[in-house]
Amino acid sequence: MLICERCYRSLRRHLEDAADIVGHLRSIADPTKAAVFDRIRVQSSSIEIPAPVAADLIDASNDITTTLNMWANHVAGEDRPGAGLPAGAMADAAHDVVQLAVDVILEDLDRLANDSHQVYSLCEGVMVVHKDAPDVWTVADAAVRWPLEDSPRWAQAACPVCDLMAVRIQPGRNGRPSRYRCTTEDCDWEANSKDDGGLWASVFAEPAPAEVRPHDPRWLTLADAARLVERTTGTVRNWVTQNLLAPQMGRYWQDDVLAVAAQKRGEAA
Ligand SMILES: [Zn+2]
Ligand SMILES: [Zn+2]
Repeated sequence: MLICERCYRSLRRHLEDAADIVGHLRSIADPTKAAVFDRIRVQSSSIEIPAPVAADLIDASNDITTTLNMWANHVAGEDRPGAGLPAGAMADAAHDVVQLAVDVILEDLDRLANDSHQVYSLCEGVMVVHKDAPDVWTVADAAVRWPLEDSPRWAQAACPVCDLMAVRIQPGRNGRPSRYRCTTEDCDWEANSKDDGGLWASVFAEPAPAEVRPHDPRWLTLADAARLVERTTGTVRNWVTQNLLAPQMGRYWQDDVLAVAAQKRGEAA
């Protein structure tokens, strides 16, 4: 690959977010549609960057769409300019137009990343952040001015680079893998659930659900367990005090109950 892993993953993340961002820009430009994209919060995240104005919403959404459509055309072997958004494009329509282009680009991203003529200009068009009002808006330009509300959660394992418990998990959207990003200052580590052979999906996996499944009919109440083996509830409880049976949350595993009953019958015979 001709760009470092860190840049590759950042490029990929911005591509994956592009449709949500464009949909969001159009929803602010057309407030009647805002509810559709209310997962995204409006704020200017940095004091160094001037607050965007209304015309920026139109420019940014149109520039991003044009750029991504151009790259989707290119990947498909047609080198022609990308279509922009019609002036009155609604948020959901704009989202779908961009998602279509992004799906095509992501499908070919590994090949593009290995082509020096292409990868730098793709990065230029997608992940560069301009200080002032951009001449041509990138996805990253829009993302820093109108950040996505991701409501990610904290991971229960440390960052593999800085070793701090600072990784946030963001569930995958639009059919994309879940993402893991370190939030420590100066540590830009990120990966998704498919990177490195799926390693990070297991590192940051939630603890396995408890073994006990009270709704499974094979987990019996004390009364049901006693009825099954034709003993009194007192007898079954005695098996527990003799450590022959181990209830889980007050339930008894059917096969265990049958096994102990068979053992007891063998002893009695
Ligand atoms: Zn890099
Ligand atoms: Zn880190």
